[in-house]
Amino acid sequence: MLRIGLVMLQGARHAHIASIEAASSNSNIPVEVHEIRKLSDLHSSDPHAIILPGGESTTMRLTGLDKSSNLLPGLFQWIRDKPDRPVLGTCAGAILLSDPRDGGTPLVDACIDRNAYGRQYDSFQDTLYSPLLGRDFPGVFIRAPRFTSNDAEISAMHGDEVVGVRSGNVIALTFHPELSGDHGFHDWLLGSAKEAME
Ligand code: GLN
Repeated sequence: MLRIGLVMLQGARHAHIASIEAASSNSNIPVEVHEIRKLSDLHSSDPHAIILPGGESTTMRLTGLDKSSNLLPGLFQWIRDKPDRPVLGTCAGAILLSDPRDGGTPLVDACIDRNAYGRQYDSFQDTLYSPLLGRDFPGVFIRAPRFTSNDAEISAMHGDEVVGVRSGNVIALTFHPELSGDHGFHDWLLGSAKEAME
């Protein structure tokens, strides 16, 4: 049974559960979703893979640094210490992975700019290409960030712009795959976690 740790600080969490369940039945990999709110949840669950959802990175930083949670710095260090465990960060999650602000190295080798397309009104959907999945993918961008530089592997392109990066087993996407009806990236997460376990 794969344990998938879903970071529950704030934001678009529940759609990820539906995508994980769809990926699980598609791939026949049984999963258990563990909700991670505080550092002790991370340690007691010891997940095989982690999802950092979208939402508001400023709120996530506040709740994740609050004494009652204390999750974020410990989570970032956990990710650095366990490079075989796959991580999927979407939108605000991609901001945290690119710019962890805990004094350590970024979790993906890219720089990011928040709200770089403009305001809520400038949210949009468009077809992307994912070299990781080897096919097109429906992109849903909501007050999305933009990568300002990238030295990582590319996991998604929107035209000639990089919208998804990968460093080792950590993927950061500036869009919301969980709202697209396509669970390709969640399939990748489960498949990589299973491979790392074997
Ligand atoms: N604008 C948000 C931020 O800066 C990210 C938006 C999202 O996750 N949909 O954190």
